[in-house]
Amino acid sequence: MADAKVRFENNAGEEALPGQEAFFDFRCPTSGRVCGTLAIKGRVPDNGRHTWAWNGDRRSPTFSPSIDCKGCWHGYIENGRTVDCERHDEPEPEKSPRPVGAGA
Ligand SMILES: [Zn+2]
Repeated sequence: MADAKVRFENNAGEEALPGQEAFFDFRCPTSGRVCGTLAIKGRVPDNGRHTWAWNGDRRSPTFSPSIDCKGCWHGYIENGRTVDCERHDEPEPEKSPRPVGAGA
């Protein structure tokens, strides 16, 4: 089970208090890192940019439509988890990279 580790940001790019959510990021199940920051529909000026509808649940967020992490991952965030396009749960990314120089 891959926890998407969604974080919400306000319009200033700071951690959003409840009600201030404008952007979100998440842990990409392919890279294991945050690959980008996405805008929440209705929370940012609509200048023709891509936005994602949010279900309003901070603890178990669901976004639509699907998220295309270019060349990296394509799937959905549902109930706080990353799932692939067939709605199968993504495997948990490797915990943490081995520290450099730590040896085998
Ligand atoms: Zn990615």
